[in-house]
Amino acid sequence: MTPAKIRLATVWLDGCSGCHMSLLDCDERLIDIAGQVDVVWGPLVDHKEFPENVDVTVVEGAISSEEDLHRIRLIRARTRILISLGDCAVTGNVPAMRNNFGASAILRRAYIENTASDPQIPREVIPQLLAETRPVHEAVPVDFFVPGCPPPAGLIFSVLSDLLEGKSPNPAAKFG
Ligand code: SF4
Repeated sequence: MTPAKIRLATVWLDGCSGCHMSLLDCDERLIDIAGQVDVVWGPLVDHKEFPENVDVTVVEGAISSEEDLHRIRLIRARTRILISLGDCAVTGNVPAMRNNFGASAILRRAYIENTASDPQIPREVIPQLLAETRPVHEAVPVDFFVPGCPPPAGLIFSVLSDLLEGKSPNPAAKFG
């Protein structure tokens, strides 16, 4: 009998998409992975709600808003193995630079001081910012950390390959 495919999700929180680009940089190696996984969620998957029973979720980006927090808690509850991908997810990195100034000052700078036409801070549509941007593991338990800005494609491939082979990846040992 053909073994069941791994249900794989990739998530983009407060990041620049560079970590997803690095994943795509695995190039033809993605074909090896594609045969063993079902991609059930990601920027290119058109589902409205994060699915149940996900085997592996790879998270790019930090936790910056109430929406990020809500999403990561739901994702954690529905995921067996959660991976923080890239320095924004692992440490807060670039999005956390705003922590020195506070959410109000950032909103004022973006929507009032840098806007010539109709300056106002939106109260609807954009998610409410948290007081600080934090790494993913401060919101929910994380199983593996893959550092880098972005992590090299080879490192991402090796972590995913280890998981697909049933091994426990050790990205820190392979980094650099
Ligand atoms: S770690 Fe670097 S590449 Fe990845 S989302 Fe953050 S800034 Fe972008």
